[in-house]
Amino acid sequence: MTSGSELRARFEAALMPNYGTPPIALARGEGCRVWDTDGRSYLDLIAGIAVSALGHGHPVLVKAVAEQAATLAHTSNLFVHERAVELAERLIALLRDGTASDPGDIRVFFANSGAEANEAALKLVKRAAGAGRPTIVSTDGGFHGRTSGALALTGKPAFRAPFGPFGVDVRFVPYGDPGVLRDAVDDSCAAVFVEPVQGEAGVLPASDGYLAEVRGICDATGAAFVLDEVQSGIGRTGHWFAHQAEGVLPDVLTLAKGLGGGLPIGACVGFGRYATAFAKGDHGSTFGGNPVACAAALAVLDTIETDGLLAAAAELGGLLAEEITSVDSPLVAEVRGAGLWRGVRLSSQAAANVQTRSAEHGFLVNAVTPDVLRIAPPLTISREEILEFTGALPAILDQSAAEETPA
Ligand SMILES: *Cc1c(COP(=O)(O)O)cnc(C)c1O
Repeated sequence: MTSGSELRARFEAALMPNYGTPPIALARGEGCRVWDTDGRSYLDLIAGIAVSALGHGHPVLVKAVAEQAATLAHTSNLFVHERAVELAERLIALLRDGTASDPGDIRVFFANSGAEANEAALKLVKRAAGAGRPTIVSTDGGFHGRTSGALALTGKPAFRAPFGPFGVDVRFVPYGDPGVLRDAVDDSCAAVFVEPVQGEAGVLPASDGYLAEVRGICDATGAAFVLDEVQSGIGRTGHWFAHQAEGVLPDVLTLAKGLGGGLPIGACVGFGRYATAFAKGDHGSTFGGNPVACAAALAVLDTIETDGLLAAAAELGGLLAEEITSVDSPLVAEVRGAGLWRGVRLSSQAAANVQTRSAEHGFLVNAVTPDVLRIAPPLTISREEILEFTGALPAILDQSAAEETPA
């Protein structure tokens, strides 16, 4: 096997420098464990950024993907195939069953990523709103993807600045503040884009009742409520979708990360008049809803259901948060989030250091911001694996705290 250092050197010479060079080269995975190219093993507590919902090499997903690849790997959208129809029907049923009210018509468009799901949502709301509503409202610190439309909606000025103007009229508001939102949304607005919890801002939840406030503001003004559940969806919070915990339905819902369990797929779901706002020819994707990706997603949904992984995410996520909270370290300022999706806010900008020390101890976590660690393990993680991590955490944090240069 090529060594990690050799692979990293080749990476650096052959790949564009946009990611920097990641410190670890992974070779394989099994369950919640991965191995690097030098044979070291790690407990995976980030799951490819909340993607590998079933962990690595899950037999149900492997079988589904292998069988579909051998049967019909690709059709394009010139042809109907059963997996995409089945997957759309499954998502619609999960959304219908999860709400007390009648959501009306629900339809799905399949893309290949979160950014593309949001691009579809952006075109959909513009199509539905017409020319008289050119403005989109989005939130500071929010993240919707790196393609130009999705980036235009992303509330991180450093990500946007070098690449604009985008030709999208976006009004940014502070996240979680319904009063400011009410003032910002008027009848010139096609839509409000918002995440139920801002993942890339450090698993930062909105204030209580925020989604219901967004719903009310959109109803009052006629703007579409677009909920980006690319990171929060598919069981991550202990519910199929985070909005189901609030009893609030959006007009448009976007999904991706956990949906394919590691295969690339995204979805844009329209409710009511947004279900059928696209006319024939309005949008498309060669790979979107590819049979192999859809087969993987069906395997993910089946396994979450049959193995009770929603309840497990709620219970084990609670255990994870409790155990981290009870660690006696001056570095831990706050543990937030829901289910198996947690942000650990540190009392200093030590997240990168804690990430490095964790890897040295055999645990993969993510420094999502300078002062927040993100933990988003496979939904299949066991109680023992969580305790293995939280048992090692005091030593990791002590080491990191000792390396902090006092201010
Ligand atoms: C990751 C993410 C995206 C972008 O998804 P990609 O698949 O990387 O394009 C969009 N929205 C949210 C909330 C995300 O977490």
